[in-house]
Amino acid sequence: MFAEVIVDILNSETDKVFDYIIPDNLNIKEGTRVLVPFGNRKIEGYVIKIKNSSSLTSDKLKEIIRPIDNFVAILPEMLKLKDFMIRRYNLRASDVLRLFIPAEMRTGKVKPIIRTFCKLNKDFDIESFALTLKKNAIKQMELILFLRENEVSDIALLNKEFGPQAVKKFINLGILQSYQEEVDRKPEIKLEEKEKFVHTPEQQRAINSINLQENNTYLLHGVTGSGKTEVYMTLIEKVLSEGKTAIMLVPEISLTPQIMYNFKNRFGENVALLHSGLSAGERYDEWRRLRNGKAKVAVGARSAIFAPLENVGIIIIDEEHDSSYSSESNPRYKTSEVADFRAKYNKCPLLLGSATPSIGSYYNTQIGLYKLLELPTRANGKEMPKIQIVDMLSEIRNGNMGIFSNILKGELINCMQEKKQAMLFLNRRGYTSFMMCRNCGYVAKCTDCDVSLVYHKYEEKLKCHYCGKRFKALTKCPECGSSEIKQGAIGTQRVVDELKSIFPGVKILRMDNDTTKTKNSHQKILEEFSHSHPAILVGTQMIAKGHDFPDVTLVGIIDADQSLYQSDYRSPERAFALITQVSGRAGRKDLEGKVILQTYNPRHYVYKFASNYNYKAFYDKEINLRETTKFPPFTTIVRILVSSEKEEIARSVIREVYNKLADVYNDFKDDFYYFNAMKAPVGKIKNKIRYQILMRFTKSKESDIMTKIYEVTDENKGAKVSIFVEIDPQNLS
Ligand code: ADP
Ligand code: ZN
Ligand code: ZN
Repeated sequence: MFAEVIVDILNSETDKVFDYIIPDNLNIKEGTRVLVPFGNRKIEGYVIKIKNSSSLTSDKLKEIIRPIDNFVAILPEMLKLKDFMIRRYNLRASDVLRLFIPAEMRTGKVKPIIRTFCKLNKDFDIESFALTLKKNAIKQMELILFLRENEVSDIALLNKEFGPQAVKKFINLGILQSYQEEVDRKPEIKLEEKEKFVHTPEQQRAINSINLQENNTYLLHGVTGSGKTEVYMTLIEKVLSEGKTAIMLVPEISLTPQIMYNFKNRFGENVALLHSGLSAGERYDEWRRLRNGKAKVAVGARSAIFAPLENVGIIIIDEEHDSSYSSESNPRYKTSEVADFRAKYNKCPLLLGSATPSIGSYYNTQIGLYKLLELPTRANGKEMPKIQIVDMLSEIRNGNMGIFSNILKGELINCMQEKKQAMLFLNRRGYTSFMMCRNCGYVAKCTDCDVSLVYHKYEEKLKCHYCGKRFKALTKCPECGSSEIKQGAIGTQRVVDELKSIFPGVKILRMDNDTTKTKNSHQKILEEFSHSHPAILVGTQMIAKGHDFPDVTLVGIIDADQSLYQSDYRSPERAFALITQVSGRAGRKDLEGKVILQTYNPRHYVYKFASNYNYKAFYDKEINLRETTKFPPFTTIVRILVSSEKEEIARSVIREVYNKLADVYNDFKDDFYYFNAMKAPVGKIKNKIRYQILMRFTKSKESDIMTKIYEVTDENKGAKVSIFVEIDPQNLS
């Protein structure tokens, strides 16, 4: 027999399938990882196909050396998924396969822990044997007594307790039978008793609406605190009771101990957790538990979509709008598309959940592609906290040039006097700053695309990331003539400093990329915050999700415009989601919560609808805008990024690709809204010069056009240049 093998060489241009001979004595299946001779090296590879004949003659073929694992690492489903991903994202096979198994496994650094166990041989007459023992054979007597009580033991333990001679003798005589078994390194999680709720009628309706026997995509739109997690867990329970398995994805940032406890409490050993906080060994073992069927529920961030489970009964993506579900570096893929593939393969439902669904997903419910399920009220019946919008322009007019409005300052003082807690939120993406007039609120936008321009400090230019147009940086407001131009964001440290001077003696904590670099620092800050009264926690996106602090009565959004004026057509939906999420931190339990939102554009529709928690009104407005401005979900945006250390190479390749694609452009002229080549907004990264072709065309023509694009880019791949194709990229810098 012959095997088609994909060899695992990082960053090489080799992405070919090689034929090898399977020696008769080896147990090799499709999906087995193997060691093969390659040139004069031995390297790892994946068997993707087994066949009766090869087009090469036997003297040209080499033999597989041996299988690497004693199990099939890549399931048949995953081999199919590989083909899908290669086609859809134009990826290299080895890059895709590498996603399917833990990194630890490939390098051979982490191996299963194999222990030797001893079992008492039931057929052996141990009592008669005991009578033959000499009086001074104390260890052996003790071992017999022990074996009467314990049928199975770890050999290491027996050796330690009764001495290796006694154990060895018992094995030789056939009293003990020894065998080897794999044991798991399990991440420690303390369990606690949790009461089960009676489902609210809304929850029950959502649960009943999901047909577990068919492949459909559902969107669960449930307000923050509506009990979506309970819906997920009930559905997973049902799936398990039918003997199937489940995959549950959450954004990495919401993989809080709380959600892990919840799942461990409900599903015990049945759940495997896959997250970045695990050690290499633990991650490997969790993966193994899924693969060998000991665990049936995979809970994790994006990459858990590749969990090695068979017979999947449901796939759930919580916070489906979160941008972390899109992989932005090689290999690029969209988690929801991979999930859709797996759900179809397994004929099971795909459930997307969110308090603020992405516009694209909600649109799909409107055109009948997804089924919409709704949880419009909170499980505890409480109202959402009130959001008050504060106009920062009028603060300036009244002489307050500080970070905090008078209203926010007043509320902070109240909150601290009552010994409660406050959270102040800032946007992480401060570094991509927009320019705004501090007198009238004017924001510099692209004349063609209606997205905010990004200020590139180094070149003193404003750039549009969607069409590449450049504008002079503002020195004067074109609307009102003021020269008070604001650029750049307020940093967390500055907020902390200011708070310390206003509230000496109050515990002020800061959580951002700088303060959470070391392991567990995240946890420590939150822990300290939960015990401090009064206290203020200042942070970025990290504090927006998942944490339950019953004594937080005040939430301040310091500079809401930072989210709204990102140069991205999605920034309104992101801002809406963020405001909703951040607001959910206030008044979680019995206390009333309040949210103060500071902005220079108080009448912006995003703020208006977000402050009423009116997602549907926001959606209606936004979808209309997208239709008029020809943005997704009505169009597809594609970027072809060419980078090289040599300027001439990058430029000649981009020109070549552009010229060849001109034919495609002409064929589909009416469907293109944009098609152009230019230097990328960030023209150089790590010494590589970056050029791009940007295009935007009708969604329905996507697969035709993509096929052509891949044809052209494949032809132009080379050693000194890299070409990436991105579909609806999250970031266009
Ligand atoms: P979501 O994920 O929709 O924001 P959660 O799942 O976090 O909401 O639930 C919010 C809170 O309501 C949690 O504390 C949860 O334990 C509680 N909860 C969920 N379902 C019920 C129910 N049926 N009755 C009472 N409390 C519930
Ligand atoms: Zn102005
Ligand atoms: Zn533009």
